[in-house]
Amino acid sequence: MHPNTIFPEPVFITRLIHIDPQFAEDFRGQKSFLVTANFFTDNKYRRLAQMAREGCDILIVNPVTNFFTYSGYVEKPTYSNLPYAPELPFSRTKLKEIHRTNFIDQVVAWQVNHGAGLLIAPYFYARDLDDRKYDYNLNLLEETICYKDKYGKQVWACINMGIKSLFNENLNEVIDNYCKTEADGFFILLEGFEDRSATTSNIITLLTLVEELSRKKDVIVGSIGPFGQILFAYGANGFSSGIGWMETFRESQLEGGEVGYAADRVPRAQYYYISSIFSYVKPYDLATLMNPNMSPEDLINELKCDCVICEEGYPKKPMDKKRHFLHKRFEEMRTLRELLKELDFDDMDTRKNTLHEIMMNKLLKARFLAQRIQDEVFIDINIAGINNWIEALKKYPPSSF
Ligand SMILES: [Zn+2]
Repeated sequence: MHPNTIFPEPVFITRLIHIDPQFAEDFRGQKSFLVTANFFTDNKYRRLAQMAREGCDILIVNPVTNFFTYSGYVEKPTYSNLPYAPELPFSRTKLKEIHRTNFIDQVVAWQVNHGAGLLIAPYFYARDLDDRKYDYNLNLLEETICYKDKYGKQVWACINMGIKSLFNENLNEVIDNYCKTEADGFFILLEGFEDRSATTSNIITLLTLVEELSRKKDVIVGSIGPFGQILFAYGANGFSSGIGWMETFRESQLEGGEVGYAADRVPRAQYYYISSIFSYVKPYDLATLMNPNMSPEDLINELKCDCVICEEGYPKKPMDKKRHFLHKRFEEMRTLRELLKELDFDDMDTRKNTLHEIMMNKLLKARFLAQRIQDEVFIDINIAGINNWIEALKKYPPSSF
């Protein structure tokens, strides 16, 4: 986060898909929404496009160019209909020269024409630094930066890499290379990083990346679950995911065979988000957990939600579970924003250290609650995952070097 940031307050950026226009409408007035570029290729998603645009200040249109080195997008018309989609996946020869073609022009224009508030430079998924796409990405970014003045919009880099490749000097090299650019912000999308099961060392990698990049520019971390909020203590401006799902980026998503899944068919849509334990519970477990005959009253009180949806009993329908999720997530952000306003820091380091303490306390409380849930009603709530974050925060406090 830097002095001229366009995201001065902690923000959760909801990634909206075709089944979500109602949420964009119900929760309008957000700082930012994210929609992938493919949803603007088909008129049947015009309501999503309109609601997303009207519902926020800064719409992010992810250009999803990373799909175009895999053949999967060919089966998905919304992707293959993008004006910059190649007929066949890009070969290495094509990619090498791509920054000299009109590819960037088209990718940028598509975002602008659909109401994007900032521009994301075209990017490809690079497994590691030896992946040639890593260098192509930096070339593409440099060229895209020239569009800042033309459209009067910020240009952001999407760092879409494998988490496993980022350690020691590799991590430093990525940080150095991206900090050297004139990008206005960084959107981090790490392959295989699942916040609830990430190892301590992978968490430290992410914390380092966020903290070092945020010294220069704005940072938003994409496709991350509830633990994403901890990144505010390391200078992140925001984090993003779908509504209670799509919380991890995997390379397999770029491949074929994943079309047309409706939210109510995805088991995840049946889960209920409990923010105080950084987790979701299954419907059957929720019933047990909230049953006064099975669970101690003080534990129920600690876990229960007072949002407008849960007021009338725990939601049964996926739509209502998603509404509850958004109410809770936005409430988490509001609480943080109000707290930061109250404390009104002069410098970044004090702000980060205070947030670090807040997040550590949240984690310790979550572990305590998860342990109680396990002891009282024998439901397993990801204690190991919480512990890994606690460990990472202990080993790598912000501004530690
Ligand atoms: Zn609720």
